[in-house]
Amino acid sequence: DPRLQAITKAITVVPHFPKKGIMFQDITTLLLDHKAFKDTIDIFVDRYRDMHISVVAGIEARGFLFGPSIALGIGAKFVPLRKPRKLPGEVFSEKYSLEYGTDCLELHVDAVQPGERAIVIDDLVATGGTLSAGVKLLERAHAEVVECACVIGVPDVKGQCRLIGKPLYVLVEPR
Ligand code: 5GP
Repeated sequence: DPRLQAITKAITVVPHFPKKGIMFQDITTLLLDHKAFKDTIDIFVDRYRDMHISVVAGIEARGFLFGPSIALGIGAKFVPLRKPRKLPGEVFSEKYSLEYGTDCLELHVDAVQPGERAIVIDDLVATGGTLSAGVKLLERAHAEVVECACVIGVPDVKGQCRLIGKPLYVLVEPR
């Protein structure tokens, strides 16, 4: 797809952020580029439009930048998967491991009905730990997770292509 090259170029690589040795993939510059941003959304919308998806679940915070546009484009609802103590209603909680320590995501129990078909979206997948927590949350609500989707996929990580049994769809690799 010729659009992917421009999407890759629109993402800025920031060396040593947020700490030494990390090559941070900054997607804020993708959002500044109308054509590349629209192409990104269009690619996801074209992929998911006819797959009977009724839930687009986005992971806080950068999954919120892509998920709602995709949801509107395919006629689905958008469901935020949030960090702890942000959602006011009753929640499912799922802890997951980070490089250092643990984090947690939450889902409103009434946001998704049993049997709904869902995708989980984030900006970037590295180990897959974050997306896997999202999948588990939706499964606790008895939704069917059809696929996980990301703009950027770090290659050579366990869990690339499939994540706890779910297909993983990524547009580009980091530069
Ligand atoms: P994982 O759980 O797959 O190891 O890490 C993915 C999570 O870390 C995502 O929520 C993503 O937003 C964040 N993340 C890690 N490194 C980067 C990066 O270089 N750029 C961006 N935009 N997000 C990152």
